[in-house]
Amino acid sequence: MLHSTTIHLPEWINEVVDWQRRYDNDDEKMALAITLSQQNVARGTGGPFGSAIFEIETGKLVSVGVNRVMPLSNSSAHGEMVAIMLAEQAVQSFSLGADGVARELFTSCEPCAMCLGGTLWSGVKRLVCAATAEDARAIGFDEGPVFEQSYQYLRDAGVEVVRNVQQPAAAAVLQSYVQDGGTIYNG
Ligand SMILES: [Zn+2]
Repeated sequence: MLHSTTIHLPEWINEVVDWQRRYDNDDEKMALAITLSQQNVARGTGGPFGSAIFEIETGKLVSVGVNRVMPLSNSSAHGEMVAIMLAEQAVQSFSLGADGVARELFTSCEPCAMCLGGTLWSGVKRLVCAATAEDARAIGFDEGPVFEQSYQYLRDAGVEVVRNVQQPAAAAVLQSYVQDGGTIYNG
């Protein structure tokens, strides 16, 4: 029986990500998440979703994630979860806020039910989304039981939520995925 599994990013990540760069504003940060989603489609390494986690105060990039569900045979390997797991390994804590450094998650598409829960448990203080759940559903992806109250729960827990940042660019990546014949798993 297997006793472990591995989550890893595609090999092209370091061609796309500048780990030394400081990101000054939401547009720069979201541009990275959307670029990751677009490259993941273009290079055939997973579904059309990308995420990135930053330190809020410094703009330092902590981790990135792309959807790896099919390549890794792992239904949990959504972009947000991959970014969260790698960030937690980077800071060596199950909480991305326990050390007093506030961190934020940028995602190219509003989180599914799993990832919205994962966002809450991760300890990030801010969630910023591009494409909407409706954009994902429009190409056949099911986001699961996510309700407006779910977002309010996060806000009540101290997580700032910002939506529709660069939504058209992120939605265009979703459309390109389906136009190129990308597989809609869990559809
Ligand atoms: Zn998800």
